[in-house]
Order: sequence, then structure tokens, then C-alpha cells
Amino acid sequence: MYCPFCNTVDTKVIDSRLVSEGSKIKRRRQCAICHERFTTFEHAELVMPRVIKNNNLLEPFNEQKLRSGMRKALGKRPVSTDALETAIHQIKSQLLSTGEPEILSKMLGQFVMEALKKLDKIAYIRFASVYRSFEDIREFGEEIAKLQDNPSLHRKD
Ligand SMILES: [Zn+2]
Repeated sequence: MYCPFCNTVDTKVIDSRLVSEGSKIKRRRQCAICHERFTTFEHAELVMPRVIKNNNLLEPFNEQKLRSGMRKALGKRPVSTDALETAIHQIKSQLLSTGEPEILSKMLGQFVMEALKKLDKIAYIRFASVYRSFEDIREFGEEIAKLQDNPSLHRKD
């Protein structure tokens, strides 16, 4: 870290402590050359990767768009707002943990599909059929068959 007074690179940390409930580290530094002291703050920068669209254009990650897309797929399915918000939070964590500044929209779509699959199978099928336009018809048939095999989904309303 350069000294802001004399620009030398030779500065040392003389004290560091957690501030803002542990989300920041405050460091006191001293320049080895001019002996001036200064303070720096360090905090984790959580920047969502940008999304590379199918047409190769970059778009900022849009949480609201993600939420409305998932809501649309969920429709009137019995999934609570809490469960949806938890899923959105998990998707964002997955995106952050890629460590990539940019991700393919296809990858985001994959995360959404996995999340919906856990939340509600019908919503998953809805989303997947629109989003991915099932690679081949057999795959779609397999998903439908899985639904029919699952007795928990045969509710009597
Ligand atoms: Zn200095």
C-alpha cells in the first residue's frame, strides 16, 4: 500500500481491528519513510457477475428480473415467499462463489432450474420448457414421467 503522503511503497500496519460489526477491518498504517500515519478500511466486495446473454451482450445481474421470472414459473404453486427468497439467496451465493466477473446466462438459467426443481416440480417443468426449450422431446417426456411416478404430487384439491 502506497503512502498517501510521500508515495513510498514501504508502509506497515501498526494496528488492525474489526469495525461495523465485523464486516470491515480498520487498519492503522505508518509510512516507514516519512512516518506519517493513515487509516485504511478493508471490506469484502460482493459484486455480482455480469450476465453474458445469448447474443453475447453483457447485462448487469438483475435480482428483480430473477425474482419475477421465478414467480412467473411458480404461478399459483404452493411455495412460500420465504422459500423463494431463500432460493434466490442461494442462487446469488452460487453466482458469487464462481468468482467470475461474467457468467453465461445459460449458467444462471441452470442455477434457476436446479432451485426450482427443489422448490416445486411443476414450476421447474414450466421454467425449463420455456427457458431451455428441452433439448430433445425425450428429455421432456422423462421429466413428465418422473412427475407421474411421484405420488406426493398427486394431491386431491
Ligand atoms: Zn510516507
